[in-house]
Amino acid sequence: MNFTETDEQVALRAAVAELGRKYGYGYFTRQARNGGRLTELWQEAGKLGFIGVNLPAEYGGGGAGMYELAIVLEELAAAGCGLLMMVVSPAICGTILARFGTPEQRRHWLPKIASGSSIMAFGITEPDAGSNSHKLTTVATRDGDTWVLTGRKVFISGVDEAEAVLIVGRTADAKTGKLRPALFVVPTDALGFSFQPIDMDILMPEKQFLLFLDEVRLPADALVGDESAALLQLFAGLNPERIMASAMAIGSGRYALDKAVSYARERTVWSVPIGAHQGLAHPLAQVKIELELARLMMQKAAVLYDAGDDMAAGEAANMAKYAAAEASVRTVDQAIQSLGGSSMTSEFGLAGLLANVRTTRIAPVSREMILNFVAQHSLGLPKSY
Ligand SMILES: Cc1cc2nc3c(=O)[nH]c(=O)nc-3n(C[C@H](O)[C@H](O)[C@H](O)COP(=O)(O)OP(=O)(O)OC[C@H]3O[C@@H](n4cnc5c(N)ncnc54)[C@H](O)[C@@H]3O)c2cc1C
Repeated sequence: MNFTETDEQVALRAAVAELGRKYGYGYFTRQARNGGRLTELWQEAGKLGFIGVNLPAEYGGGGAGMYELAIVLEELAAAGCGLLMMVVSPAICGTILARFGTPEQRRHWLPKIASGSSIMAFGITEPDAGSNSHKLTTVATRDGDTWVLTGRKVFISGVDEAEAVLIVGRTADAKTGKLRPALFVVPTDALGFSFQPIDMDILMPEKQFLLFLDEVRLPADALVGDESAALLQLFAGLNPERIMASAMAIGSGRYALDKAVSYARERTVWSVPIGAHQGLAHPLAQVKIELELARLMMQKAAVLYDAGDDMAAGEAANMAKYAAAEASVRTVDQAIQSLGGSSMTSEFGLAGLLANVRTTRIAPVSREMILNFVAQHSLGLPKSY
């Protein structure tokens, strides 16, 4: 076991942090408030090889792993400008296509995803299914050489910026007729595909959408990989999703903690800086410890994932996402307390950040579903739902 990052990883962290500082939280909030996007940052990160650092080198990626991709997102978020679509495009979609896509799908999509010139969104959540993916009703039926896909999706991020959405639907097993999951790449300009923005109360440039798939006709090769292996494919994408959601939360927590610590060092309302009072210093030390613990679990999950141990990575990625959400929410809340009234100003932006990190307790998988997973799989308790 080794807790020392390689020279390449240290250099990557430093280079991403420098890019993050160039844009920062001011850019992020300005774009969010004005309805803008993070396009310049996304494109620059893509050109520098950061967006596709985990994807195979033969398709234009960096040939590294989820550990490195998590470094990129953590450092950008720590600079105040995390890129939500990194959780989706290179992590979920890129990974699934790299591992299970047909040679043609890999050739077509991976170079674009790796360079950042194209974004792929991911749609699993449905209005009437939510946490229960067994209740998905988006169904694809075979019609000659084509698939016809019908259904609804909700809360899908970044569809307006995406060239395609990786949709989790279901197909009927030819022998039994039973519905089982299947993944389809659906171009956002496909006939029968439409989307509507959802008004959200979070300060984030990436928007969420309701998707309507009304008899969307897709070529046979829109189906990712092998129809019978979709569950495996899905799990292969969900571990990276959880690792990356952890990276974003931990980075955001680090951003808030930095702000709080600098403020607490300077701000003096009695005779000493407020950071000298243990009533303020101890809670900040506590959240520092909680962030570091969550980070350790995220790094363990990434290392296991990169070593090809999907099962062990699954447990660690769930635990990391749980811990990262809890730690980041407590950190931002404590940072708010440390800044007093200033925390509520747009200048510091911590109030807006609280809603963002609070989302990590719900998405991409809720705290309760993680606790269900751990109770059942790690502790061997009976399934409760
Ligand atoms: C900002 C944002 C971005 C998102 N981006 C995407 C995206 O790009 N793609 C995508 O597919 N989805 C996305 N989502 C959706 C997200 O993954 C879901 O909101 C999340 O999985 C929870 O589903 P739900 O909202 O339907 O909650 P529900 O399933 O309705 O659950 C509501 C509450 O009940 C709890 N609950 C449900 N079942 C149980 C149980 N058995 N035991 C205990 N508690 C339970 C849940 O934990 C939750 O707290 C996004 C959501 C947000 C907020």
